[in-house]
Parts: sequence; structure tokens; C-alpha cells
Amino acid sequence: MKTKRLKAVIFGPQGCGKGTQGELLADRFDVPLVGAGDLFRAEIARGTQLGKLAEESVSNGKLAPDELVNGIMSRQLKTLDLSHGFILDGYPRDVDQAVFLQRILPLNVAVCIKISDATAVKRLLSRRQCPACKTVYSLTDAPPMKPGRCSLCGTKLVKRTDDTDNTIRERLATYHFMTEPLTRYYRERGILLMLNGEQPIPYVFDDLIKKLAKLGFVA
Ligand SMILES: [Zn+2]
Repeated sequence: MKTKRLKAVIFGPQGCGKGTQGELLADRFDVPLVGAGDLFRAEIARGTQLGKLAEESVSNGKLAPDELVNGIMSRQLKTLDLSHGFILDGYPRDVDQAVFLQRILPLNVAVCIKISDATAVKRLLSRRQCPACKTVYSLTDAPPMKPGRCSLCGTKLVKRTDDTDNTIRERLATYHFMTEPLTRYYRERGILLMLNGEQPIPYVFDDLIKKLAKLGFVA
């Protein structure tokens, strides 16, 4: 039996674990995990007209407008070999972007990982990162072996400066307002797959694999 090719987006609020689930899923299905941030940086590095506009909006700390994001994504996605499937992370971020993407590169699965705001805040506040090797720890769920030190390279761990209670709540509000309506958009197309992100990582992944199998996606 020939399995369907996975053409997916994975989304959810910060702290939902979509990065981890995206990596696990990409490994299992042997497809690329395509991060919108990487594509953005690639366009900036090329110094194109779009790249220059992107650089401006990044340095302003503002979200880039849909037209710019869509332009960059459509150009960058064409440079990749996505013929065996893919998982997008970080794009689309709103319904207008999703509508555009469906025209140029139709998805057949949209994975949403749901967690409460309280869980998101708790997880993000307990997050620490190694500034040297970028490994991320959670003081509550995945602490380093030695307190305050990276288990891999021994560097002193730091908290992201934008991980404060206020900024986290602002980012969550933006998510609810801007990105969460994607659930309705994809549900109407019959391709939404909802996961309970409150569970431990292996349980979420197990759920994901089972639900994908029901839709005919078998790794
Ligand atoms: Zn490290």
C-alpha cells in the first residue's frame, strides 16, 4: 500500500512543544521540517529586494506584513525539494497567509497543539537556554544535570530576556487573535488534527501518529 505524502503545517501557542513534535514527526516520516524563520533569514542573506524589506521589519521588531511574508515564502519554498512531503513550522501565521499557501502549495494536514495560557506561561517562565550550544532546558520538565549549567557543554544557562510574564501574555494574545483562527480554516477543509499538548512529549507524539494513521498517513 502506498502511503499518502505528508504536506503539513504544525502550529500552536509558544510553549506547546511544536518544535519538538515537528522534529519527531520529520524524523519518523523522513521529510524536511521547514522553519519559516530559516527561510526568512535565507532571503535576507541573499540581499534581494524582499530580503531588504524583511530585514527592515525584523529590525523594527514588528511582524512583517502578509504580502511580504507570502512573497518570501513562495520564493523560498520553490528552492526546496518538497516532492516527498514536508512539515512547515512558523508559516502560515494567519488565515490570509493560509489562503495564499493553499493556492501555491496545498496542505493535506494541519496539526494544532493546544495548551492553556497558564501552561504556556509556566513552561516559558521555566525555560532556560545554553547561550553556547543553544540547547533548551525546562527547570520543571527537563532540567539540566547540574543546576544552572548546560549538560552538554557546561556553559551557564540563561533565561531569554523576552520571556517575562508580560511579554509572554502579549505573545499569547497575538496568537489567539491572529493564528488560532487557522483551526477554523483548516477544520472547514477537513484537514485539522487537534492534539492535547498538556500531556508529556511521548504521549502527544503517540496521539499524533495514531491520528495521522487514521487519515492514511503511515510512516
Ligand atoms: Zn551548551
